[in-house]
Amino acid sequence: MTTGLFRHSSSVLHDMGAGHPECPERIAAIEGELEQRGYLAVLAACNAPAATGEQLARVHTAAYIDRVNRMAPAHGVVALDPDTVMNRHSLTAALHAAGAVVAATDAVINGEMDNAFCPVRPPGHHATRETSMGFCIFNNVAVGIAHALEQHGLQRVAVLDFDVHHGNGTEDIFRDDARVLMCSTYQYPWFPHQNNRSIPGHLVNCPLPSGTGSDGFRAAVNDHWLPALAAFRPEMIFISAGFDAHRDDPLAGLALIDEDYRWVTERIMACAATSAGGRIVSTLEGGYALPALARSAAEHVGALASLQ
Ligand SMILES: [Zn+2]
Repeated sequence: MTTGLFRHSSSVLHDMGAGHPECPERIAAIEGELEQRGYLAVLAACNAPAATGEQLARVHTAAYIDRVNRMAPAHGVVALDPDTVMNRHSLTAALHAAGAVVAATDAVINGEMDNAFCPVRPPGHHATRETSMGFCIFNNVAVGIAHALEQHGLQRVAVLDFDVHHGNGTEDIFRDDARVLMCSTYQYPWFPHQNNRSIPGHLVNCPLPSGTGSDGFRAAVNDHWLPALAAFRPEMIFISAGFDAHRDDPLAGLALIDEDYRWVTERIMACAATSAGGRIVSTLEGGYALPALARSAAEHVGALASLQ
């Protein structure tokens, strides 16, 4: 089993200011835990390239891409929206975060590795076609999915999102694309305050009330995600891997534990083995309690790489 780790030095230079929960230390926490467990040495570490304008334009409007480029500051910080700030490294970081998912997609489809994880910042799943939102600049997972569809010709791709916040941007981008099945679990009511009705074979939204723990989360996956995946038979699976549904996380109110992330990853791997030749690309979204984030991400990556 070869698991890739697509990362870039700019992920820790994008900084939205002191006290911002989406902080550079998140990456160090994850990689430190991977190293401590002895995982880092067996992962195939790869330097993430920048996404190209063509790759971004598959999921974002030209006007939005222009706006991000125009607003990127040479010094100081500027706010793209009330939650999302750019410093002089943010544009580079955002390009490489999206590029990481593209490169991981190429590597997995080309058979160079079985699956891959991208510990990159900024996250992406709230970014819509035409706007930043909720700490997200470009929708990294969507850029990867569009690459799999348009560059590699895949016809059925699933995206699974277990971040505590709904991946409204990803849903927005693929709303009218029948080639994409999106399954997600999220706290509701909660940011981003969107809870559209599920669409059989295309959109599986599983809102969970505050306080939901392992049992409720696992029931949603077993009862809703897995049957939808079995029917859809994706040729590849993408994961928006947010770890902020953990009970220690300060930004929301679900109550998952470390082991839930290994459990859900193993369920996803079983689905991928059935129809997708095992092909999975996962990318980091949220997760703000650093020790819980690090342990949960390590459970996720450990499962992907079949490490205990
Ligand atoms: Zn989140």
